Amino acid sequence: MGILAREGYELTPRADEADVLVVNTCSFIEPAQKESVDAILEMAEHKKFGAAKKLIVAGCLVERFREQILEQVPEVDAVVGTGEVERILEAVEGDLRVLPAQPPAFLYHDLTPRVITTPRHAAYIKIAEGCDHPCTFCIIPQLRGRFRSRRFESVVREAENLAASGAREITLIGQDTTSYGEDLGLHDGLAQLLAKLAQVEDLLWVRFLYAYPNRVTQNLLDTLAAHTRLAKYMDMPLQHASRNVLARMKRGSHGDAFLKLLERIRRTIPGVSLRTSFIVGFPGETEHDFNELCDFVRAANLDWMGVFEYSDVDNAGSYALDEKVETDVISDRRNRLMAIQKKISREKLRAFRGRIAIALVEGESKDNPLVWEARLEGMAPDIDGKLYLTDLELPGGESAAVGDVVRVEIAKTDAYDLIGRVVEILPCPASREILAIPRVPPAETLTRISTGAPLRVLG
Ligand code: SF4
Repeated sequence: MGILAREGYELTPRADEADVLVVNTCSFIEPAQKESVDAILEMAEHKKFGAAKKLIVAGCLVERFREQILEQVPEVDAVVGTGEVERILEAVEGDLRVLPAQPPAFLYHDLTPRVITTPRHAAYIKIAEGCDHPCTFCIIPQLRGRFRSRRFESVVREAENLAASGAREITLIGQDTTSYGEDLGLHDGLAQLLAKLAQVEDLLWVRFLYAYPNRVTQNLLDTLAAHTRLAKYMDMPLQHASRNVLARMKRGSHGDAFLKLLERIRRTIPGVSLRTSFIVGFPGETEHDFNELCDFVRAANLDWMGVFEYSDVDNAGSYALDEKVETDVISDRRNRLMAIQKKISREKLRAFRGRIAIALVEGESKDNPLVWEARLEGMAPDIDGKLYLTDLELPGGESAAVGDVVRVEIAKTDAYDLIGRVVEILPCPASREILAIPRVPPAETLTRISTGAPLRVLG
């Protein structure tokens, strides 16, 4: 989007207004593929019957089905894989139907033009791309290529730019964030990066997602504990707790080792919020293995948990494994595991009642326009529970706005969310000069591009 905006194209979330339609696809698991194909077919209708003159398919689905997409959906004019992101302009402007496939090696940097689609106050930064782990259920290494890190200074500069343009919170992402910097020769690269980002004054919180359990070093934990700007939060997908299932997943380890690690994390970072995710119904998961996982979840007492149903993808290593689990058994296991966590979550959130806490105001709730949403330090954007605000106005008439940092009093709690009211609006850190941010050309020179997402242009 950044490349197109820099060249003078106007981005629109409305497919019926667009001259060029770009469908950015996912292909991680079957439901994601289906959603991607449905989106392509829907956009093909727009091209057939609407104003659009061109349809481009980009992203991970292209890495898997480059030729099939072009063969089976004749309305598609060009495909752009994950290695060819920078050639989007050729796809939009040229008459190329097939771009020659490049190995998936693309990685953006701080000078790559970028359009931020999240609200101004909270942004994601990708610090690394690809993955070298051998998890048998996962095709990300095939789709995204070998692990490679962005340069340290490039990430720092992007964080400073985002903070200067109003970001209060930054979330670092990548398929394997805890390996950050290994390929650059950095030792404990993520800890070093976090310590540096913790110095960016305009930020309220910096967090990272997707820690790989055996890459969590004591130095990383000490760094999280040492800096107030680093959110006391860790997301660490464990995938399972049974030794048997983890071995078949090629992830090694077992529940007891995870419990020890969780204890160490909690000891080092008092008050830390912990999130994990599991896959249920992996081939060979017996009822015994599943019960082990249930016992683990009870013992681990985590703040947030996601459960994914195993999905058989034909080019994943686990596709060839025997003892596949029936889909209704998989769904039942997911429900049972979520029910255990629901009780834990309800109990943990109950402890917040009556407390005063710092929150970042997100804006009107998507579920209910009568209330606003905010998040506490222990809640990551998009994935965890929320804090609903019933009252934004202070007795003096001042009202909290989107992106404000506020003090809230928490009045009620339920299984996954909190309800509270604003009691104080805290001063925002002063904004600094925006550095090296790509400019978007004036509107009169623009052509339209559909993106399917509300947009915010940084600059
Ligand atoms: S570590 Fe994550 S991205 Fe890498 S192979 Fe395993 S599940 Fe996939």
